[in-house]
Amino acid sequence: MTADPVTSNAAAPGAEYAETASAAYRAALQVIESVEPRIAAATRKELADQRDSLKLIASENYASPAVLLTMGTWLSDKYAEGTIGHRFYAGCQNVDTVETIAAEHARELFGAPYAYVQPHSGIDANLVAFWAILATRVEAPELAEAGLKHVNDLSEADWEKLRNKLGNQRLLGMSLDAGGHLTHGFRPNISGKMFHQRSYGTDPDTGFLDYGAVAAAAREFKPLIIVAGYSAYPRRVNFAKMREIADEVGATLMVDMAHFAGLVAGKVFTGDEDPVPHAHVTTTTTHKSLRGPRGGMVLAQPEYSDAVDKGCPMVLGGPLSHVMAAKAVALAEARQPAFQTYAQRVADNAQALANGFLKRDAGLVTGGTDNHIVLLDVTSFGLTGRQAESALLDAGIVTNRNSVPADPNGAWYTSGIRLGTPALTTRGFGADDFDRVAELIVDVLANTQPSAAAGGVSKAKYTLADGTAERVHAASAELLDANPLYPGLTL
Ligand SMILES: *Cc1c(COP(=O)(O)O)cnc(C)c1O
Repeated sequence: MTADPVTSNAAAPGAEYAETASAAYRAALQVIESVEPRIAAATRKELADQRDSLKLIASENYASPAVLLTMGTWLSDKYAEGTIGHRFYAGCQNVDTVETIAAEHARELFGAPYAYVQPHSGIDANLVAFWAILATRVEAPELAEAGLKHVNDLSEADWEKLRNKLGNQRLLGMSLDAGGHLTHGFRPNISGKMFHQRSYGTDPDTGFLDYGAVAAAAREFKPLIIVAGYSAYPRRVNFAKMREIADEVGATLMVDMAHFAGLVAGKVFTGDEDPVPHAHVTTTTTHKSLRGPRGGMVLAQPEYSDAVDKGCPMVLGGPLSHVMAAKAVALAEARQPAFQTYAQRVADNAQALANGFLKRDAGLVTGGTDNHIVLLDVTSFGLTGRQAESALLDAGIVTNRNSVPADPNGAWYTSGIRLGTPALTTRGFGADDFDRVAELIVDVLANTQPSAAAGGVSKAKYTLADGTAERVHAASAELLDANPLYPGLTL
């Protein structure tokens, strides 16, 4: 055991206290086994599978054993609806402590005036933010005029009155096929139903966000909310510019940094690229590049904090106290200098991965990356995203298919493969390893042929040349063995 067991090796969380963690997991699995052995078996197998696969899913990571262990306690047993010091249940003193520490770490880490750590997921965080913005913006002067005080005090009839009075419930967000998220106004999502939505895309020639086009759409549409942020856009965003656009049309700027919160926390995105000082409200997940437990958070400027603080009961039920505790531990880890080293490596590795593709003549959306995402256009291999995703999985490489802007193959088959560096960087992968990963992916895709189908070629079926899967499996096993996941952890 060392003085700094949590973070002294950011590339391999937990190496220093592997023995203690191993004992804890062995004990836990033994207890689980006594009740439902199949769950213990699936849990063991998940570790083996994660250790043995090249995980390039851009939204995934590996949390430290400290974060994981924090979730497995009796904090889960407590109901604590309400806010710190103001709960609807008795006996919440320890949950108050946990939530206070988590919120304090979040404020300090991101330099935010206010942090709400209760949301159970990224989508919950966005719903809380939407309602908080509505509550805040609707409060004055329409409410006063209608003789009402606060959105949270409205009766059903008042709501009706308000909806009729309220002209503007318009939301402008990035379109799904340009890399936005379902919750940014995609029609089948509730965000596309709560709001009158319109989306902005990227420049058809360069694939980059076109701020002039966003500004023009904002002037014409006059949204109440502009949402910035993305799940599949491989470039940085200038949030100062987005705020200027929002200010010009009187919109609230909400930034959803679910994907890149780790790059903000690790000070890779600073100045105009740091959303927190520019956005009125910033939402995030905690389990992606931030490397915490599965969950969400909302950060807000003071004028929005009272409304965000009412996320429960407005949107949420009881907070997951054990997960708030794990958020506190993960945020404490992210405040260590080692996390900044990790975040910089995530970005550097994405460069190495992109360069690995470019020098092998594979097409990339926007021609490269400057964040943690690489969006490979697989039409250069004559494949759909669906075929590429499946062929890569046959060779032990886990990715997800993704639309590219104006995708000719639609949202189901797609033409892209989204790749991210956060997870393998946690294992310790460096630039040379990511160049090798690009080589292996190109090897698989170059050896994949679409199958013949009635009237042309199939968008789903494919054949992989003999020996490819075996060759790539063997090569990736070498990379994985050299960069073990949870080194020293034995079950
Ligand atoms: C992943 C993601 C979410 C949703 O997070 P969940 O925890 O899965 O609900 C929301 N917004 C963006 C931009 C995301 O990338």
